[in-house]
Amino acid sequence: MASSNKELEDFLLSQALELHQRPRVIIEFTKNVGADKIINDIEHFPHFFVLGSIMNQQIVFQRGWIIPYFISELLNGKDFESFLKLDLATTKSIFHEHSLHHFNDKMAFAFHAAIQKIHFEYDNDASNIWTWDEPDCKTVIRRFQEFHRVGQKISTMAVNVLVRDFKLPLPNHRAIDVSGDVHIERVFKRMGLAPRDAKIKEIIEIAQKIYPEYPGFYDSVCWEIGNGWCKPSNPDCEQCPLNGKCPKII
Ligand code: SF4
Repeated sequence: MASSNKELEDFLLSQALELHQRPRVIIEFTKNVGADKIINDIEHFPHFFVLGSIMNQQIVFQRGWIIPYFISELLNGKDFESFLKLDLATTKSIFHEHSLHHFNDKMAFAFHAAIQKIHFEYDNDASNIWTWDEPDCKTVIRRFQEFHRVGQKISTMAVNVLVRDFKLPLPNHRAIDVSGDVHIERVFKRMGLAPRDAKIKEIIEIAQKIYPEYPGFYDSVCWEIGNGWCKPSNPDCEQCPLNGKCPKII
């Protein structure tokens, strides 16, 4: 760890506690109210959350999360059976025609593969990923990682959302690391919690040391700061909630 900054860590802890202890609210994944409503409804449409999680990589997050909703509008159906009718060629042509992702071919393949996996391995119900055999967080993270193109970042992000925002009582929060995301990396370094040359793996280990009982506890707070104020260039330190506590190692 680069250095200890108790005031900063206490502030992050209080912000994170607020998020984790608040009652369940509708989370804004996109800028579309209809899409957000359905992504939040994991009790009836869990496939939107799983497919959206997988699409949420290497593009602006709202653009990734809305892909399943956009396709459901084309299919004129939101139930899983509607998605199951998609073959790979049709999926690819939808991605290309509507330019849904930076990597249309790869992500169309991942989208189609995820539907097939939910069909064959989770009995057409994506919520079985987090309900079958009363799994702990470690098992649910592993189950997410078994999807095509899902690694540490997406799997921990998804399980963190399930626990923090959707309030699922999954045990073993020790398994939830911070997501290996560019915002997290940048903010950890500027806050002085990680050395300037730290790799993602080291940042994950630092977060494990800061709060071992739930290493991903600060994830959302740091991500929001990185997305809102601590931009790659011209960080808005004046308006940042960490102003006055952060050493601003830029
Ligand atoms: S105070 Fe500045 S450097 Fe520190 S986290 Fe905020 S925006 Fe980034």
